[in-house]
Amino acid sequence: MFSLRSGGLLQLYTKELLIPSERVAHVQVGNSLEHALLVLTRSGYTAIPVLDPHYRLLGLISTPIIMDSILGIERIEFELLEQKKVEEVMNVEIPRVSIDSTLETAISYLVDHPFLCVEDDQGYFEGILTRRAVLIELEKNNK
Ligand code: AMP
Repeated sequence: MFSLRSGGLLQLYTKELLIPSERVAHVQVGNSLEHALLVLTRSGYTAIPVLDPHYRLLGLISTPIIMDSILGIERIEFELLEQKKVEEVMNVEIPRVSIDSTLETAISYLVDHPFLCVEDDQGYFEGILTRRAVLIELEKNNK
């Protein structure tokens, strides 16, 4: 039977497949939903990390969360986009993995999430690990 263990993929470190923080589109807690929607739309991603001014990871913001937060009973309340802040609506229940962990830990989260936020032992954001990067590595290992 095919085994992920035999290829050594699970023993790779998260940091080896990481998209580093400086290449990750993100917003800051104090930003408005309007700004977040602009970054999301321009980047083409549906969810991006929310960081504090010290680059600590606080949560994720996504287009569906933003749209849901401006839905009124009879209309979409677009004016709320500039009034509300990212911190009021962001998702804080997100899986986080350590830069020093192996893919063995990460891979179970990647079943349900297209990417994981990676942080150091003090909670500073290091980058993201995408399901895509892991699948590309898996494909390489099987050639
Ligand atoms: P991908 O594996 O490229 O399809 O990316 C999966 C998800 O990871 C995207 O929908 C984004 O939410 C996130 N993502 C990937 N690359 C970046 C990036 N450079 N900046 C921010 N988010 C990203």
